[in-house]
Amino acid sequence: MTILNHDFLALTLANPNAMAPFQLTFPSGTGVVEETGILRLEPTQTSRVSVVLSAGIHGNETGPMELINQLVRDILAGKLTLGVRLLVIIGHPVAANAATRFCDVNLNRLFSGAWRNYAGIEVQRAERLEMAVNDFYALSSTDSEHIRLHYDLHTAIRGSMHEKFVVHPFVENAHYSKQQLAFFAASEIEAVLLSHQPTTTFSYYSHSVHGAHAFTVELGKVYPFGQNDLSCFAALEKNLRQLLEKGSLAESSLSSLCIFNVLDALVKDDDSYELNIDQDVKNFTQFTEGYPLAQSKKSVYRVKQTGDAIVFPNTNLPVGQRAGLVVRAISVDALSLI
Ligand SMILES: [Zn+2]
Repeated sequence: MTILNHDFLALTLANPNAMAPFQLTFPSGTGVVEETGILRLEPTQTSRVSVVLSAGIHGNETGPMELINQLVRDILAGKLTLGVRLLVIIGHPVAANAATRFCDVNLNRLFSGAWRNYAGIEVQRAERLEMAVNDFYALSSTDSEHIRLHYDLHTAIRGSMHEKFVVHPFVENAHYSKQQLAFFAASEIEAVLLSHQPTTTFSYYSHSVHGAHAFTVELGKVYPFGQNDLSCFAALEKNLRQLLEKGSLAESSLSSLCIFNVLDALVKDDDSYELNIDQDVKNFTQFTEGYPLAQSKKSVYRVKQTGDAIVFPNTNLPVGQRAGLVVRAISVDALSLI
């Protein structure tokens, strides 16, 4: 078995359900396809950096899959010299082939063992992806200087006032890595949303279980395969190439970043629950104080301060689940940076 034309994405989509493991070599190292959509690449030179790059956790988010595939292609072809340990993941090939976000249940809600509470095609995949990450980081040095990174790349269903943004994992001590934020600023990421609690996303899993700097990175809108303008990701791609080659992170001033705190989680508390927003409202749309943002027979949510904004609105879900987040901009100077 080989990766024909160094096209890992094509191989993955042609074998969406399963693949027998096989090994491969490339000019700067060795690798193994562990399962469909799971490729581990080890550099010849020893490295203190272990990077997980994942995309397509939602099957219709094609742009990031194409971006990652280009990087893999260049490594396998010898155009990019790999200088770090790298785990590449195409998250959900079955859904990708069906051009759908997910088949039975949202894969990016199933990590940290949450898959145990669900049924469907995504359950087994979540368990398998956790295992791949566990194995990958277990093989990394236990040396405390070893750096673990995980960038889980997505595109959003709806538009956003900040086209590219990052969801920062919840950190108990409220210390934030200046180096990671500077990397996002240099990669033309516009905003950072600081999570207010643990979640069951893929990136949070790598953060909480393996201590990785791990982020959900939203890169713009969903388009079908072949219709993505990868130049939109040019700055990120350039900086990922530098990371993979040299093990170093590009940095620029944090002043370009908008930082948001979660103020409130909107919870659908009744079947009558409604959000008073347009269907196609963009993420980070702001409202004025007193605006009745959400209401049901049981409750009404009024905006607390002009400028507070909504992120991830969605009412097409069961009672008891999150219908959106209300967020508030804070100054980067207010953050405790390490
Ligand atoms: Zn997504």
